[in-house]
This record gives sequence, structure tokens and C-alpha cells, in this order.
Amino acid sequence: MFVSSPEVAIPTLSIEERIHRVVDEVRATALRVGRDLTQIKILAVSKQKTVADIRALVSHGFRDFGESYVAEALPKLDSLASAGCIWHYVGVVQSNKTKRLAQHFDWVQSIDRIHIGKRLADVRDEFSTTPLNVCVQVNIDEEPTKAGVSVDQVPEMVDQLQQFPQLQVRGLMAIPNPEAHRDATRNSFRQMRELFETLRTKTTSHWDTLSMGMSGDYVMAIEEGATLIRIGTALFGPRN
Ligand SMILES: *Cc1c(COP(=O)(O)O)cnc(C)c1O
Repeated sequence: MFVSSPEVAIPTLSIEERIHRVVDEVRATALRVGRDLTQIKILAVSKQKTVADIRALVSHGFRDFGESYVAEALPKLDSLASAGCIWHYVGVVQSNKTKRLAQHFDWVQSIDRIHIGKRLADVRDEFSTTPLNVCVQVNIDEEPTKAGVSVDQVPEMVDQLQQFPQLQVRGLMAIPNPEAHRDATRNSFRQMRELFETLRTKTTSHWDTLSMGMSGDYVMAIEEGATLIRIGTALFGPRN
């Protein structure tokens, strides 16, 4: 069974209280397991949240934000154009959305088909001189309905994506099965870490991102080596 952390279940907290709880817990976990806090980035996943909510986090020093739906995200990105945010796309990538993704986002964490990578690279060339940061999404628990490549396909995918100079291949992203027991989730995080370290020797020096852990399991993800945790509910409160 999926068990939320207690703070996720309290809908009445203010955004400030939520931020403090998450930041304190990340800090305490890093200290406990001997990890450098600067190696753990918090991505605030702002889907279904307003521009005002995002500004509240910006005013507390957050810079990295994640969105899952292109149509919802673009007006928000536009309103926040001068806020200095770094935008990560973490949703399913559809071929007909690649143009807008490559044009407006700084990162696409959810690449799982090589032709999507190629399209993003082609479009990026038209719009920007800086490469698009990308991660390969791994379907770590081999769920039939989930996006992502299987573990044995990852090295080939990383290899192919690295051929595109318009893409900076930063690492791996995974969303373990939310129905799994915590021991199984920990095991999935461990497998991700192993894969990430194995590929480090074969990749460029920018291979620095292991994106795993959400509101219900980010402590465990940090314990197992996540360098980027993707937090929605625990920062912004519940979504509809
Ligand atoms: C929504 C979402 C999150 C954040 O989930 P919470 O449980 O609200 O923290 C993280 N990653 C992805 C890919 C998401 O779609």
C-alpha cells in the first residue's frame, strides 16, 4: 500500500509551512546519510497550481519547476517569463508537442523514444543556441501502462541521444509503481542508482541527474542516491 508522509495529508498548512517542512526534511536526511546538500535539487512540480503559487515558491528561493501538461504550462511560463525560473517537463511527450517543448522548456525529463529525442533536437536548433537538457525515463517496475524504456534498453537510448549536439543528456528519471510496498520502491530506487552509476563511465561529464522521489517517498529516494526529487503535493498542498 502507498503510504503518504504525514505532512502530505494536512491540507491546511500554508505554503510557507510546507516549504519549511520539506526543506528541513531534505536537510535532515542528507545529514543523516552523509550526503552533500548541494547535490540534491528540489524540483517543485507545479501542475494544476497557479502562477501566484509558483511566485510564492520563487520568493523562497525555488528556481526549478516541473510541469506535466503542455497546454496548461505554456500560459504559466509566459506569465512568469521574467521570474528566472528553470522549467522541466515531466509529463508524457507527444510527438505533436515536441516543438513547443523544445522552444519553451529548459529540461525534458521524460524521453522514452528516440524519435522524440530527434524531433526535440531538430526544433531546438531553430530556437536556441543552448542545448536542451534531457533525461531518459525508465519504466523501472515494468508497468504495462507507464511511459519509459525498460532497463535493458537504457544504454542504447542514452548512446543514441548523445549523438545530438542540441541535447545535453543529464541522466535518468523514474516513477516507481505507486501501489508497491515501500521495500519494493526502495529496491527500484536502488536499481536506478546502479544503472545511473554504470552509465556514468560511458557518458559525458554532464551526467549528473538521477531524478526520483515524490512527496510520498522522497526521503527514501535521497537515502538511495537521488540528485533531484520532484515534489508537488508536499510543497503546494493537494491537487484536485
Ligand atoms: C505530479 C508529479 C510529481 C509530483 O507528485 P507529488 O506526489 O504531488 O509530489 C512528480 N513527478 C511527476 C512525473 C509527476 O507527474
